[in-house]
Amino acid sequence: MKNISRRSFVNKFGMGVGASVIMTTLPSFMVETEKTAIPYTGKKINIALCGLGIYAKRVAESMQGSEYCNLAGIVTGTPAKAIQWKEQYNIPEKNIYNYQNFDEIVKNKDIDMVYVILPNSLHKEFVVRSAKAGKHVITEKPMAITVKDCEEMIKACNDNSVQLAVGYRLHYEPTHLEIKRLGQEKVFGQVRYIESSLGYKTYDTIAKPPVDVNNPAHWRLNKKLSGGGPLMDLGIYCIQACRYILGEEPISVTAQFGTVNDKKRFSETEESISWQMVFPSGAMANCNSSVGYNIDRTYAAADAGSFELSPGLSYGPYEGKSTNGPIKFAPIKQQQKQLDEISKLLLENKKLPVHITGEEGLKDIKVINAIYKAAETGKKVLLS
Ligand code: NDP
Repeated sequence: MKNISRRSFVNKFGMGVGASVIMTTLPSFMVETEKTAIPYTGKKINIALCGLGIYAKRVAESMQGSEYCNLAGIVTGTPAKAIQWKEQYNIPEKNIYNYQNFDEIVKNKDIDMVYVILPNSLHKEFVVRSAKAGKHVITEKPMAITVKDCEEMIKACNDNSVQLAVGYRLHYEPTHLEIKRLGQEKVFGQVRYIESSLGYKTYDTIAKPPVDVNNPAHWRLNKKLSGGGPLMDLGIYCIQACRYILGEEPISVTAQFGTVNDKKRFSETEESISWQMVFPSGAMANCNSSVGYNIDRTYAAADAGSFELSPGLSYGPYEGKSTNGPIKFAPIKQQQKQLDEISKLLLENKKLPVHITGEEGLKDIKVINAIYKAAETGKKVLLS
């Protein structure tokens, strides 16, 4: 991914003024790496949320009190939501877009980044449109539904010198940073085997009323919009956990679709799926994902011990233990931490770490595609 030059950075933040102003202004938002007691008062990244569904609501709530970013705009196809969000979050009328007039955002210097929280197959279009408008972009997971779409998204962002992140909130969560450390630093020796499963019978119990993914009208059951069932939506967390515990990429996968208990609802997408991954070190993973039952656990067996989380992949709080004792961290506002860290790097004109960028999202989609192919053919699929 290209580095954003100092000049394009300055232009991006609408500071195309005299050099003296640039020189005096830039250092004030060259944010310190360590959080200090002095509250940050410099320039913040202004974010527009695109698609105001259940997760966007969670993101907006979590963003309140953010240090390095603001909820500054919205993109919605539902006029009633525009009115409600405008009032609730004090969003200026000029920062409100719908899907038709969205490209006009190119003229809006008050928006620095777009956060795409649409159904999966729509991520590509809105990432590309955001990039063409000169805005940095975060897209929700899964990054897209095909490898080709991911590649086009990465290219569009590179071509337009903007950065692309994927909404991997757990990459900022202390419990997950700990299991990553335990695995990658081989605290209990080489990890040999991982089990990771995530399934929800009712998708989001915090939403009122709870979101029922078994509602036949839900986009998650429509393959064109979702790209697949629980593997795309939830299994991606299991793939991620295995990849960051081991710090390796799978070299082969096998997979099996589970029993379909409701053939009418699950005519396009799977109800459940199990898959196995083999990694270069020889480590193996056995994973499962479902919208037919509840499950949320990750277990890693290493040469001299083990560690596990249950629950471990949902929104938390998480419960964990290892051979050395409990793994327990105070819950954090995950989305706030994620957006603050991303915004801080953008303000410092630094590249985002690869593990949260489009390249990472692309890797997940390659694995997901291989798993579907393995389940459909009943054969082992090799990943290069
Ligand atoms: P929702 O169905 O709750 O929201 C999606 C929103 O997209 C809708 O409310 C609507 O907003 C907009 N939209 C535009 N076109 C369509 C369409 N054709 N069908 C349905 N909605 C449309 O989904 P979620 O918020 O649960 O998921 C959105 C994305 O976020 C997905 O990619 C999902 O994987 C991801 N996600 C990530 C999570 C995480 O923890 N990182 C958790 C949950 C979801 P509007 O009315 O404003 O136009």
